[in-house]
Amino acid sequence: MRSVDELIADGVSGRRVLLRADLNVPLDKKTGAITDDGRIRASLPTLQALQAAGARVVVAAHLGRPKGAPDPQFSLAPVAARLGEMLGAPVTLAGDVAGTDATAKVAGLADGDVLMLENVRFEAAETSKDDAVRGELADRLAALADLYVDDAFGAVHRKHASVYDVALRLPHAAGRLVARELDVLTRLTESPERPYVVVLGGSKVSDKLGVIEALLPRVDKLLIGGGMTYTFLAAQGLEVGKSLLEADQVDTCRRLLAEAGDRIVLPVDLVSATEFSAEATTRVVPFDAIPADEECLDIGPRSIELFTEQLAGARTVFWNGPVGVFELAPFQAGTRGVAQAVAAVDGLSVVGGGDSAASVRTLGLDEAAYGHISTGGGASLEFLEGRELPGLAVLAD
Ligand code: ADP
Ligand code: MG
Repeated sequence: MRSVDELIADGVSGRRVLLRADLNVPLDKKTGAITDDGRIRASLPTLQALQAAGARVVVAAHLGRPKGAPDPQFSLAPVAARLGEMLGAPVTLAGDVAGTDATAKVAGLADGDVLMLENVRFEAAETSKDDAVRGELADRLAALADLYVDDAFGAVHRKHASVYDVALRLPHAAGRLVARELDVLTRLTESPERPYVVVLGGSKVSDKLGVIEALLPRVDKLLIGGGMTYTFLAAQGLEVGKSLLEADQVDTCRRLLAEAGDRIVLPVDLVSATEFSAEATTRVVPFDAIPADEECLDIGPRSIELFTEQLAGARTVFWNGPVGVFELAPFQAGTRGVAQAVAAVDGLSVVGGGDSAASVRTLGLDEAAYGHISTGGGASLEFLEGRELPGLAVLAD
């Protein structure tokens, strides 16, 4: 896999470089303001290196999940504005992805300029399952540039036009963020220093079963929190009230518990609420006494202590998924506790996942306390599962 620095060494001055970046930042539902700009910041090193080398940079990125057509709610305009502030130079936003406006604006670029294309998911072809449909968009994207650099680690597990197909059409290289992510994640898969402890949270167990299966034989402890807790509790025949439950995964969770023995550690108490709201009345309940008419939205104080103890002696830690609904103040303590315990680890600590990374920052924790904060949730999980990631495979050719 070629690196962007090798590409730069060969000379990129005056050349048009299509840079696929991961700028999929969370937006405030009411105001549309960017609530966490970590992914924009993480994409700066590659972008600035290309700029400094005199490339004409054309940034392609997605934001949210528009339905394959332009939708002002998902415009990259606020992202282009924030990126411009960070670069200290305006970033022009094209009015389309790879249409007449993008083509005209690319033609007007000077060396070192940065142009952002509109949300690539405004084109239904971006995510199409049909190679020919994606190929047509990839042809138009490729026509905008001479070289392709993929720095969108958070999207490398997707076989999308701007991630996969365009790399088949242009000389390509991996950006600095992708290189760093791969370097750190490889340290987790190849002889991690022990004890190796993984914390998994988030909402859906079905998203994480693959990684649980893959990690179980390799880890010393797997601490489970978040929404998937309840499917594991239900697998032991316990009442989970109105908490998140994936009934079709109960049997799988039961089998995993049997296989794992004491390597899977579940919360011993939980924060239960009368409703899913910041104003809800809450109380702490033991794991085996969840009220039938309440919903658990965080791990309780004894679980925070338990998880903290488990993490204290670890030499390698991977944490993915908030252990509670940290977006709402009454359910932040668990995620804060885990984030603090992971930060205190003496060894390699890696945080993976968009929401987990955002939680570290929105809870006001020091990012520098972590060995690495991965920008990619799905991508880092699939990498740890040992799956082939299309966006990386295509860069390797
Ligand atoms: P990441 O983006 O870090 O990979 P996920 O997307 O898997 O994480 O999950 C994040 C979401 O999980 C958060 O929005 C959080 O509110 C939610 N979550 C955590 N605990 C619970 C719970 N007990 N019930 C419902 N949702 C939860
Ligand atoms: Mg997420």
